Amino acid sequence: MPYRLGDDVDDYCIKCKRITNHAIVSLMAEDPAKVRCRTCYNDHDFRRCEIPPSKKDLKKMQLFNEVLAGSGAPPAAEDAAPAEPDDAAKPAKKSKKK
Ligand SMILES: [Zn+2]
Repeated sequence: MPYRLGDDVDDYCIKCKRITNHAIVSLMAEDPAKVRCRTCYNDHDFRRCEIPPSKKDLKKMQLFNEVLAGSGAPPAAEDAAPAEPDDAAKPAKKSKKK
């Protein structure tokens, strides 16, 4: 069933923070491209009722990723980097002394 400008579609409104009735204000390939909330008259891209992640969720995910990245690599790299040149030079001297 083709959409037409001005048709009602359900979509998620970021301002109302819920699914509301929207009027189609622009179409792309017979799909709604932009819609206007019937409740608050906010225009936005049609998101097919998908609820976007909130800023809080994005921040949580970022923190989580930073913790994951921070706990693993840096300490190991610090330990390994200064030690390697010494270890490479010492074995030769030690074996001579023995
Ligand atoms: Zn709204």
